[in-house]
Amino acid sequence: MSKPEKFFDDEGLRLDGRRVDEIRPMKIEVGVLSRADGSCYLEWGNNKVLAGVFGPRELHPRRMQRPDTAIVRYRYSMAAFSVEDRIRPGPNRRATEISKVSREAFEPVVLTHLYPGAVIDVFAEVLQADAGTRTAAINAATIALADAGIPMKGLVSACAVGKVDGKLVLDLGKDEDNYGDADLPVAMTQDGDVTLIQMDGNLTQDEFKEAMELVKVGCKQILEIQREALKDKFSQFDNEEIEEETVVEAPESEVEVEETIEAEVVMTEEAESEIGDEVEEDDENDDEPDEYTGDEPDENTDDEDVEEGETNE
Ligand code: UDP
Repeated sequence: MSKPEKFFDDEGLRLDGRRVDEIRPMKIEVGVLSRADGSCYLEWGNNKVLAGVFGPRELHPRRMQRPDTAIVRYRYSMAAFSVEDRIRPGPNRRATEISKVSREAFEPVVLTHLYPGAVIDVFAEVLQADAGTRTAAINAATIALADAGIPMKGLVSACAVGKVDGKLVLDLGKDEDNYGDADLPVAMTQDGDVTLIQMDGNLTQDEFKEAMELVKVGCKQILEIQREALKDKFSQFDNEEIEEETVVEAPESEVEVEETIEAEVVMTEEAESEIGDEVEEDDENDDEPDEYTGDEPDENTDDEDVEEGETNE
């Protein structure tokens, strides 16, 4: 891919038609992995990221445990097929760095002190990369943590801001990232506290301040999308529960009542002669002790009698 001739059209719109303060479309699916405690699939422009959370669970080997807190491990990795030129699978310098700063982005929000000796593992797998994958992974990981029920002070939202052709732009696209003048990925809590900030390139102090204001707007928009995704997941869960209760309980209890009444009537009709027979039998075998034998002949007899009674009706 070569450098585009220009990054903005005559109306000031970017290569993909966005305004300078507009983020790429984001789609979030919650709870997509059945073996993870929490998970999320996130698409952001052409980025596709899958996040899975496992834990809190006991950390092994035990000597790695912290007696006062849980530890959070975060592994960011890119699939070999996620980029134009296949990348070598396995850890590399870039992935190790991104994993470290991303873990630290969650440190201020995850209530790790509630799980001493435990570990919470976060895996972020980039399936398709198109600039901004570390921020996409953080956004997915937040949702996966929430889906796993990990107590947090709030959600973390992440977005990059950068400079292209001398203009500040929110959420860099691939060409803007490759050929731009600066790239500033940021993660922040819902209260606006910055938990990750990195910078590639150069910005003046004024540009930096302006960039931070712009990225705040981006993170707020993302926070709303994250909240909506979680609301959708959990309100759907509530509705399902309510529906299940209604469907199962109401009609069944009516049927049960009718059947019980029918059975009682039949039993009552048969009961007198049956009881009479039993008493006579007992009288005949006076030598035999009235002990429980382990068999249940009486119940079987009753069942047969009930069926007979029903057929006769
Ligand atoms: N990229 C790539 N090969 C690599 C690493 C990155 O093609 O080995 C691409 C990928 O599309 C990525 C973009 O370069 O999204 C920008 O990478 P950067 O290191 O800035 O991280 P990101 O913006 O994805 O967080």
